[in-house]
Amino acid sequence: GRQRYLQMEITTFADGDFLLFVRDVTRMLQLEQQRRDFVGNVSHELRTPLTVFKGYLETLMAAGDRFDPRFHKPLEQMELQARRMENLLDDLLWLSRIESVRSEKKTERVDIAGLVEELRDELAHSHPERVVALRLDTRDGVAGDYRELHSAISNLVLNALKYSPDDKPVLVHWRREGEELLLSVVDQGPGIEEQHLPRLTERFYRVDESRSSATGGTGLGLAIVKHVAASHRAELRIDSEPGEGSAFTLAFPD
Ligand code: ADP
Repeated sequence: GRQRYLQMEITTFADGDFLLFVRDVTRMLQLEQQRRDFVGNVSHELRTPLTVFKGYLETLMAAGDRFDPRFHKPLEQMELQARRMENLLDDLLWLSRIESVRSEKKTERVDIAGLVEELRDELAHSHPERVVALRLDTRDGVAGDYRELHSAISNLVLNALKYSPDDKPVLVHWRREGEELLLSVVDQGPGIEEQHLPRLTERFYRVDESRSSATGGTGLGLAIVKHVAASHRAELRIDSEPGEGSAFTLAFPD
């Protein structure tokens, strides 16, 4: 017959009795898969017209000095918005890809300290005005997927840079603590009020709509981080103090 997925939950009582709940979640998982496939397909389909659009726009921009100056601003805006749409589609595609990889075993050994060093060097080029400090207390790696971990960690660091003032450094700390390996990204930005924390990793959830869209984020960064964490059996912890800053920690079981 067809494969079915069951979810079980056991509640035990002091007198030794217990309750076993069994739920058939096959249909729910199918619907989830359909939703992911749909989002993935739509993102993929939208990229083709966008690429054509960008191509024509580049031609126009190249001829920019032959246009009346009042067209300069609209052209720049079109380019900016096309880039935003491209980022959004990239993030949507990436998210639907990592969501649909059913918790398959991660066997690659990822050198987190090395990954973070590489990321710091990339950021030295893209954000030369910012300080990204590293504290690497261990060289231990984790079993995982390099691309996924790179995207999660770079999302956290880019957020820290984006939401904190230019003159404040961002710290990346990699360490072993008891049974866990911890990667923290610490900033001295505005912090996040506690009431927002539970919803922060939802797709498109933003604390401050106007500020966030001005910074050009896609609203998908933390959703990506959460999924990467889950597929690595890691936990995402957020500690934040309004007015002081935030620390986002990925806690990997050892
Ligand atoms: P976005 O593209 O809007 O940055 P994210 O999913 O990465 O989307 O983040 C969701 C929201 O969480 C952001 O819009 C912002 O309000 C808040 N946020 C994320 N990281 C930080 C941070 N380091 N400091 C303050 N707020 C943050």
